[in-house]
Amino acid sequence: MALDSKVPKGPIKDKWTDYKNHINLVNPANKRNIDIIVVGTGLAGGSASATLAELGYNVKAFAYQDSPRRAHSIAAQGGINAAKNYQGDGDSNYRLFYDTVKGGDYRSREANVYRLAEVSANIIDQCVAQGVPFARDYGGLLDNRSFGGVLVSRTFYAKGQTGQQLLLGAYSAMNRQIARGKIEMFNRHEMLDIVIVDGKARGIIARNLVTGEIERHSAHAVVIASGGYGNVYFLSTNAMGSNVTAAWKIHKKGAYFANPCYTQIHPTCIPRSGDYQSKLTLMSESLRNDGRIWVPKNMEDVMAIREGRKKPTDLSEEQRDYYLERRYPAFGNLVPRDVASRAAKERCDAGYGVNATGEAVYLDFASAITRYGKDQAKIHNITNASDAKIYELGQKIVEEKYGNLFQMYEKIVDQDPYKTPMMIYPAVHYTMGGVWVDYNLMTTIPGCYCIGEANFSDHGANRLGASALMQGLADGYFVLPYTIGDYLADDIRTGKISTDLPEFEAAEKEVSDRINFFINNKGTKSVDYFHKKLGNIMWNKCGMSRNEAGLKEAIEEISELRAEFWKDVFVPGGDKEFNEELAKAGRVADFLELGELFAKDAYIEMNLVAVILEKNLLKNQDHKWEKQNVMIKTILSFLRGNVKVTLQMQFYTKKN
Ligand SMILES: Cc1cc2nc3c(=O)[nH]c(=O)nc-3n(C[C@H](O)[C@H](O)[C@H](O)COP(=O)(O)OP(=O)(O)OC[C@H]3O[C@@H](n4cnc5c(N)ncnc54)[C@H](O)[C@@H]3O)c2cc1C
Repeated sequence: MALDSKVPKGPIKDKWTDYKNHINLVNPANKRNIDIIVVGTGLAGGSASATLAELGYNVKAFAYQDSPRRAHSIAAQGGINAAKNYQGDGDSNYRLFYDTVKGGDYRSREANVYRLAEVSANIIDQCVAQGVPFARDYGGLLDNRSFGGVLVSRTFYAKGQTGQQLLLGAYSAMNRQIARGKIEMFNRHEMLDIVIVDGKARGIIARNLVTGEIERHSAHAVVIASGGYGNVYFLSTNAMGSNVTAAWKIHKKGAYFANPCYTQIHPTCIPRSGDYQSKLTLMSESLRNDGRIWVPKNMEDVMAIREGRKKPTDLSEEQRDYYLERRYPAFGNLVPRDVASRAAKERCDAGYGVNATGEAVYLDFASAITRYGKDQAKIHNITNASDAKIYELGQKIVEEKYGNLFQMYEKIVDQDPYKTPMMIYPAVHYTMGGVWVDYNLMTTIPGCYCIGEANFSDHGANRLGASALMQGLADGYFVLPYTIGDYLADDIRTGKISTDLPEFEAAEKEVSDRINFFINNKGTKSVDYFHKKLGNIMWNKCGMSRNEAGLKEAIEEISELRAEFWKDVFVPGGDKEFNEELAKAGRVADFLELGELFAKDAYIEMNLVAVILEKNLLKNQDHKWEKQNVMIKTILSFLRGNVKVTLQMQFYTKKN
């Protein structure tokens, strides 16, 4: 199948406007006759459901949690980008577009990213109007901070709880529509299959997680907003329930995946403490605005710290290696996440890790606290302030900015990060790959859309911080509501879709058969046993560093593990009750299939790049690194037969 991205013609800055001026619209009276299913009510699905219902469509929204407020989006800490240029530091739509494309190693679809940059400012206005309490500066204006990989301050934030506040905004917009009856909310319902009738997405099969009932739901279009699949690694910063099932089910029915192996490894997470851990905790990237990352310069100091003979605070400035500031003076500690993660791994692999496992570097706030303290002393006319007074004043400022993150760190690690540097190490955080979508956010199944982290379109091979919330909300509030109308304009006379069609019956049977298998298998090993094993293979062989031998092993080992799973998995309890192990079994079964695809994709990606390098296909070695990457993308796209993307990339190369 040839993929057609359906990117409109014309200059990149005019595409979205022209597109909106020429698409088909559905008139308000006809919207009342059209049903849309939205699977997922995180920031992407929540904003989409609220907006579609506000427009007049009948929305059925599904989430496996007991409330949309519990979607994984609530965990987002650091902030959301928007090209408002409130700081007057040179930001613009073009710069946000450029940073995002460059940050994604030139693997994103530029037209989508430009549109994202264009609507970013609207998101902030929308959320402020909803009452989202963004941080404000002394004068009462919205404040900004910086995130990695950029040279401006464009990140809007609400302390370390930005996702929570944004989600409450989207949730209140949804609630208005739930009260009006325009959204029918199905909490604790898990979508287990999509139903395709005459080649179009026309419904889903869902399981009521409380009663165990299997239900059929029909609609004129289905939107998947089910989030990322980082939990294929077992340990990640994602919520425990985050999974790939909805995306995987549509994949198996014809929706293509794109770049499944592109995973973001976040540099600032609390290091793993042992084998029985089931969750990793993020320390927001915003901390790199003020925290300085270092390891000791000398191996003797590393050993002394590990053995408890020295404390990090005993080391002088000269004895510390601020390796990011040393290597990347322009960006310093705010290099993009992939660069910071690789650099931490490199230092730890070289033996400089500072905790017992050897997998930790320091994130130190002492300089920032002193700097803020001195500022405050001046502001308050305190002359000859003692070091202790300066520290006290500075600590207050740091507490205002990051207090909840510091508290979280102290609770987990039992160390006071105001007094001793935090320890951090990279961890799996975000999946840039996902369901392939065209410019309309439609998958390769007509009428099936995919938005938010679940799709692949905007972040390329690496995501810059604070851009996921932006994408989820752009998709839900400002993009999908237009693009879906263009498709639904053909459906105004279709009428209700019956759930008695044979396609619904067949899909329901598939779901029921699988559930019956799990309940009756009576194997000897728990679902978590398999999930952990899969996670180990993924992290060790398909994680931060990947090589040919490791990937080949991973492909084989995952396939063997999957076979063992289907023979020996044990699921306690019954199917007509709340049974979390049963739900997990289905999710892990899908992870076991995704894992193999993931490793194969990584293998192909690596080999394509190897061929390019070996055959010296990058003829002009004088190009800057960014331009080389553009050329790699061009060749990769060509080899994958994605000619449309190839042409766009060439245009982009010329322009810059
Ligand atoms: C700790 C942490 C901090 C982060 N901080 C930031 C940040 O500061 N800035 C930023 O831009 N990004 C941040 N991110 C990334 C960002 O939070 C996510 O990418 C984003 O919230 C994903 O939103 P979403 O709506 O696509 O998915 P989610 O919020 O994951 O929502 C998924 C929804 O799908 C539902 N669902 C899933 N499968 C099914 C199914 N089969 N049936 C029914 N329902 C289903 C769930 O119930 C849920 O409602 C952070 C991520 C983490 C892990």
